[in-house]
Amino acid sequence: MTTALVPTMGALHEGHLDLVRRAKEVADRVVVSIFVNPTQFGANEDFDKYPRTLESDRALLEPFGVEVFAPSIDEVYPLADRESPQGRIEVPDSISTFAASQPTTTFEGATRPGHFDGMLTVVARLFEMVQPDVAVFGQKDAQQVFLVRNLIEQMFPQITLEVVPTNREADGLARSSRNRYLSAEERLHALVLSRALINLSLRLMSATSTAEAVAEARASVEAEPEVRLDYLDIVDPHDFTPVDEQFRGPATAVVAAWVGSTRLIDTINLVIN
Ligand code: AMP
Repeated sequence: MTTALVPTMGALHEGHLDLVRRAKEVADRVVVSIFVNPTQFGANEDFDKYPRTLESDRALLEPFGVEVFAPSIDEVYPLADRESPQGRIEVPDSISTFAASQPTTTFEGATRPGHFDGMLTVVARLFEMVQPDVAVFGQKDAQQVFLVRNLIEQMFPQITLEVVPTNREADGLARSSRNRYLSAEERLHALVLSRALINLSLRLMSATSTAEAVAEARASVEAEPEVRLDYLDIVDPHDFTPVDEQFRGPATAVVAAWVGSTRLIDTINLVIN
């Protein structure tokens, strides 16, 4: 009897359901965890207003015949000091040592200090609680996948990682629980993210300079009204560092931007020839 774990923060959409479908294909038993993890949100982020829709999440999962695991903060972090609003939850030494050896302070980690310490802490905790044989994650969070892959390799070698492609709306917008924050107008502006990544992958087929192609992609995002670019880059999938002009082969483009006050990310796998 094999178990697959699909970790989520709830507010489920079709992207999450793709993960569930994959999990069902690869394991006998599927556990979908729903836990809005306080430790991966910064003080100025949306922990308090993050959508919590447990009942409709359960209804969405019902036809799949999976187990929903929706633990409380106390269950996940029994030893936490509860004096501060989000609880003061220590990052275990094993995780901080691991995190220090990984790209946890670049890209998402640069704008969201401590985010990956919190993410790795909760993922390790969920692995301990659920004891899965397989863990299913979405490619959309490319840096998260990179870190979880290494976490598994180093600390949970008994677990197999399954990565599922990004599920998009018909017009290309990557599905995200945060898309519900967007006004109709912001949603249109948000399309610049997926467009910039697709144009970048096409541009690279003829561009003489990777840096120039990246600069054009950044400019296209910056030109969009209501959109503020955080980062757009192409990284080497081996170490998640930006590629240089000499780099050839499969790579990953990543983008993050605020659309109005909503922060969105997207990613695409591409090839530099
Ligand atoms: P979240 O609930 O946003 O923390 O996401 C839980 C899992 O779903 C993560 O592994 C995400 O990468 C994955 N995920 C989120 N959005 C999508 C999407 N549009 N397509 C595929 N997977 C996704």
